[in-house]
Amino acid sequence: MRFDVLTLFPNLVLPYFEDSILSRAIKDKKIEIHVHNIRDYSKDKHKKVDDTPYGGGAGMVMSCEPLFIAIRDVKTQNKGPVIFLTPQGETFKQEKVESLAAQKELILLCGRYEGIDQRVRDTLVDMEISIGDYVLTGGEIPALTIIDAVSRLIPGVLGKEESAEEDSFSASLDRMKEYPQYTKPEEFEGMRVPEVLLSGNHAAIREWRMKNRK
Ligand code: SAM
Repeated sequence: MRFDVLTLFPNLVLPYFEDSILSRAIKDKKIEIHVHNIRDYSKDKHKKVDDTPYGGGAGMVMSCEPLFIAIRDVKTQNKGPVIFLTPQGETFKQEKVESLAAQKELILLCGRYEGIDQRVRDTLVDMEISIGDYVLTGGEIPALTIIDAVSRLIPGVLGKEESAEEDSFSASLDRMKEYPQYTKPEEFEGMRVPEVLLSGNHAAIREWRMKNRK
């Protein structure tokens, strides 16, 4: 799956893919990440990408021109929907993760400052997603959240010992949260692992887990 990220701060995004599961997924060609600096598309001689809001008020707004040029350019290489990360968007849930994982390509647009000119949203954005009811300084963490959650549903991204099937919010757990997990030793500082998990009785274990999910 191909992800293109448009941001003013590529260095906030790129290091995330240098380690662990997603770096392996890139090496195994399960995912492709392309990060574009919106400033590179500014025609202004000082590479300006923002301006003051019409109507007054605090802060700056990301301007139309660099965003239109950047998005149109990326769309020549990526045919997926353009997703703008914004607190005003639809709250990101596992059902959305699953529907995005069915795509082959996604374009993620990260805002900064007070956000982006509405005309970009009206014309070039297909979908708006919020990662929760709070305000961050930029859309980079939300973009990484989407890439991470979607990538782990792509076949082959998680290793053989890992599985997304019984994770919290999965359809197989009726969208509920996962049951408690334990590992060795059987007893630690007087706290024992529930006996049923040591029993080898798979039906009883399954029943205990279903009862203890949240
Ligand atoms: N003025 C905007 C508002 O009140 O909705 C907040 C702008 S925020 C400081 C700057 C950028 O961070 C936004 O354009 C968006 O891209 C990103 N952002 C902040 N919080 C977010 C969230 N909860 N979900 C998705 N993106 C978020």
